[in-house]
Amino acid sequence: MRLFPVLAVLCALSQPLAAQEMTALARVDGGPSKISDGWFGRATLELHLSQGVPFRVFLLEEPARLVVDFREADWTGITTADLLPEPGRVTGLRFGPFQPGWSRLVADLAEPMLPDEIGMPVDKASGKATLEISLKSVSPEAFAAAAGAPVDPSWTMALAAAPVPPPPPGSDRFRVVLDPGHGGIDPGAEAGGLTEKDLMLSFALALRDTLMRDGIDVVLTRDTDVFVALETRVAMAHRAEADLFISLHADILRQGGAKGATVYTLSDEASDTATEHLAARHNRSDIIAGADLTGSDDQVAGILLDLARQETEPRSGAAAKALVAGMNAAGGPMNRQPLRNAGFSVLKSADIPSVLIEIGFLSSERDLDNLRDPIWRAVMVTAIADSIVAWRDEDAALKPLIRQ
Ligand SMILES: [Zn+2]
Repeated sequence: MRLFPVLAVLCALSQPLAAQEMTALARVDGGPSKISDGWFGRATLELHLSQGVPFRVFLLEEPARLVVDFREADWTGITTADLLPEPGRVTGLRFGPFQPGWSRLVADLAEPMLPDEIGMPVDKASGKATLEISLKSVSPEAFAAAAGAPVDPSWTMALAAAPVPPPPPGSDRFRVVLDPGHGGIDPGAEAGGLTEKDLMLSFALALRDTLMRDGIDVVLTRDTDVFVALETRVAMAHRAEADLFISLHADILRQGGAKGATVYTLSDEASDTATEHLAARHNRSDIIAGADLTGSDDQVAGILLDLARQETEPRSGAAAKALVAGMNAAGGPMNRQPLRNAGFSVLKSADIPSVLIEIGFLSSERDLDNLRDPIWRAVMVTAIADSIVAWRDEDAALKPLIRQ
């Protein structure tokens, strides 16, 4: 693993941090803000804020990205088209909440470029601030030498170790970890004014309440609109000592006119091309958010993991079948091939049965209508909760047999 020298700029404001925290969020003003190409291999980013905030800038490679983290910035109402009306040397842009108290902007770069000017002048009279970054084309070597996430232990810790409540006392209680897909800077699918991240959060909260009424203990990988890295989601399931991990999604999938609820389990080989694409897209979500966690992969002996997987795989499969049966009985509608598999990173716990549910696809008009309908959602929540209970009992009954 290569470690690159860090290009990080922490803006030192005249006020101390504590004083900054007392103030309101800095609003991003989409009107005058803009990212545009300049002459001679240049691009500039100009972001207008209602007040100055601490920020940092760094670069990531493969693919080349510029990342800016802001303390307490509010992006409400700003669209990508506001800031990037015409993709050029900056080909794509995402922004939004990242960690509690921090938001992030990630700009995809068409070519290797380095900032040669970074500043945030604050207007004395109005208090308004402008973040100005000027980028200039450089060689791939120069880019590689400058790229790398800042080494900031407190930041890395926050990314890698979201707090998980310990299992309840006398803990043979069944515990489910619910994982609302996407979040924060990563909205997931967007259609008809809805985002996958918001839909799945409210669905997960409703499912949690229903499961808790059934006496099941529930931990969420996120209960607000924040970004959670895939590794962190898996790590949280382990720390929670989960009996079952369920990732919840409602993606856009154009291939094959995907529609209807579908349950996915982990496998090295994808069941079909559409699923392979879906998994590949999800596995890139850390890259999309500029949260490339290097070296956090478990280097545990492969044989041990394989043994654990041998036992877990059929249990994940049985959980998926129970969920399909339950949702189907509740009226679905189900996908024409409701059980599928692929190499989803978020399902790679060796010892926790894990499934990913596409409750519906936002690319399907019918599914979109269903997902909008509170009654349909309530029926699906109940169906999924009942399926979890059914699988728990079935799995418990099989346990003595497996141990023989
Ligand atoms: Zn998704």
